[in-house]
Amino acid sequence: MINMIFLGPPGAGKGTQSAYIIRDYGLVQISTGDLLRQAVKDQTPLGKEAKVYMDAGQLVPDSLIIGLMKDRLASPDCAKGVIFDGFPRTIAQAEALDAMLKNDLKTEITQIISLNVADELLVERAVGRRSCPKDGKVYHIKYNPPKVGGVCDLCGTTLAHRDDDREDTIKNRLKVYHETTSLLKGYYGNSGKFTEVDGEGNPDDVYVKIKRILG
Ligand code: ADP
Ligand code: ADP
Repeated sequence: MINMIFLGPPGAGKGTQSAYIIRDYGLVQISTGDLLRQAVKDQTPLGKEAKVYMDAGQLVPDSLIIGLMKDRLASPDCAKGVIFDGFPRTIAQAEALDAMLKNDLKTEITQIISLNVADELLVERAVGRRSCPKDGKVYHIKYNPPKVGGVCDLCGTTLAHRDDDREDTIKNRLKVYHETTSLLKGYYGNSGKFTEVDGEGNPDDVYVKIKRILG
């Protein structure tokens, strides 16, 4: 049973690597960013509140995120094992996750993988990111372009550029990562389950290192 956390700054490749892991290990991916973007699209009360923070590159308040995660973890598919992508991002979220897994699902985190990439590369990765609104497949205009410009290889849908993948917002998200989320390395560092992986090589090479950790 694997329940892993992907730590790492915006654009590090967490979503890209999660797709490989899902394919090979049959886990469920929970991305709080994806859940929030869906809530914004559906114009739910949560989505309306979260959008203000997301557009500014700030963290959405813990109470909203923890409530969102509690609902998501109540779904039976989580019993297959989960990749937590983009969550937790604060110590309060990490503590809440530990408690939810222990009390509600009688399980625990098995691995924490921190994907490390230098800030200069992250800005370029995020600015060039495109994704399919229909199936979520992630592309990059330079590093992983679609076969036909601007449309998804799998379904032909026009690719989207996230509102917050602009240089100024990304710089803010990186600042938030260094000031807040990177503190989680200290929280998990001594757990015996924490590994840092260099995320700067090509995606296949990065995945080889991740597979070694997951076994
Ligand atoms: P990336 O994949 O580039 O790291 P995400 O899709 O994970 O970005 O997150 C996009 C935005 O959604 C964040 O900038 C933040 O506003 C919000 N968000 C996502 N996950 C969380 C979280 N766990 N806590 C607080 N805010 C979050
Ligand atoms: P995250 O989920 O951590 O925010 P993504 O997986 O969405 O990151 O990747 C961000 C962008 O960088 C995407 O456009 C993706 O295609 C690209 N990318 C991901 N991994 C690599 C890599 N190893 N080398 C170059 N580009 C990458």
